Amino acid sequence: MEKIIYLDNNATTKVDEKVVEKMLPYFCKEYGNPSSTYTFGGNVQYKIIEARETLRDFIGASRVNEIIFTSCGTESANTAIKGVLTANKTKKHIITTKVEHACVLTLYKNLETQFGYKVDYLDVNSDGSLDLTPLENMVNDQTALVSCMAANNETGVIFPYEKLAEIVKTKNPNTKVFVDAVQAAGKIKLDVKNTQVDLMGISGHKIHAPKGIGALYIKSGTLLSPLLIGGHQEAGKRAGTENVPYIIGLAEACKLASDNLGDEATRVKQLRDTLEAGILKNVYNARLNTNVSNRVPNTTNIGFEYVEGELILLHLSDLGICASSGSACTSGSLDASHVLKAMGVPFTCLHGSIRFSLSRFTTNEEIDYTLKMLPQVINKLNNISPFQKELNDLKKLKA
Ligand code: PLP
Repeated sequence: MEKIIYLDNNATTKVDEKVVEKMLPYFCKEYGNPSSTYTFGGNVQYKIIEARETLRDFIGASRVNEIIFTSCGTESANTAIKGVLTANKTKKHIITTKVEHACVLTLYKNLETQFGYKVDYLDVNSDGSLDLTPLENMVNDQTALVSCMAANNETGVIFPYEKLAEIVKTKNPNTKVFVDAVQAAGKIKLDVKNTQVDLMGISGHKIHAPKGIGALYIKSGTLLSPLLIGGHQEAGKRAGTENVPYIIGLAEACKLASDNLGDEATRVKQLRDTLEAGILKNVYNARLNTNVSNRVPNTTNIGFEYVEGELILLHLSDLGICASSGSACTSGSLDASHVLKAMGVPFTCLHGSIRFSLSRFTTNEEIDYTLKMLPQVINKLNNISPFQKELNDLKKLKA
């Protein structure tokens, strides 16, 4: 296979070989069912307890029994949201943000249209930061749940979820707060115990564990009806025989991610900043969709005015460079990204915005190569753009 320059780590990540190594014994050697009474199964149960301890520390929970394993970030969010609402059927008001991931927004749409919930949506500012101003007035005694992401998947902007939880709890201590930390995990430190957050979800495949594993933090005392009903696994909060190798893999990925939060995150941020600055310098119709410093270190989102994002991606793909546009990947359609729309990104680059997301495996050479090839791709597309006059005006303006 040709060399791949993988700059789409917010979509998914390469599984770290060290993670695979830790998982392998649990397929063909230590394959016992952790619920079995004999030692062959009991040993595996012990390994799951260790993995849960690792997750407790990674999320910054107080207790090991506050962590359950799920199959992905989507399941964590669905378990949290439906679980809390089902356990408290009388309250029908929810608050969230306009820029949540589809796994949350689509569920809320469903709750609105099928089950009579009223959902209020917080706005973001033009730099993608969350506007908490109206929150206090939105929360009332009918508010069952407030949810927000810890970092946005398209822009990387970090949201003040600790502050959000504080405002919510001051107004109504019975309202539950769920945080989708799928894009923050492994990129910034999580420390849920020092917040008033009740539930927090993460996903393995965004942090170099395999697809098919996630986790959910449920603060002790939080009433939650399980999504999957059956056996007594995960303290009755998620039935089904535990996915042992993947649980072990997730724990190892969390350890590695924690080890890499310091110097390695700084290196990734420097690479991201180099990529960003290089594109802005060498492509006259490039526009940074957000420059807030409070972003996860690996993400940038850049608009290319008067050019079609999907075309950029196809040309980059021919060169082995993988990135994504905020549009098609999430919705399966060519609609403009709901996140960029909420930020008020001008229509001139709404459809030409590309997210580049790096990882600890991204190298200097890969960024250099991207910086060499991308201006050529954009130039080629500029030449066939129907907006020649606008592009010329822009070129003169930037000259
Ligand atoms: N939440 C956010 C912010 C995400 O970016 C994603 C995936 O892209 C998810 C949730 C869903 O996670 P999963 O793919 O593990 O279901």
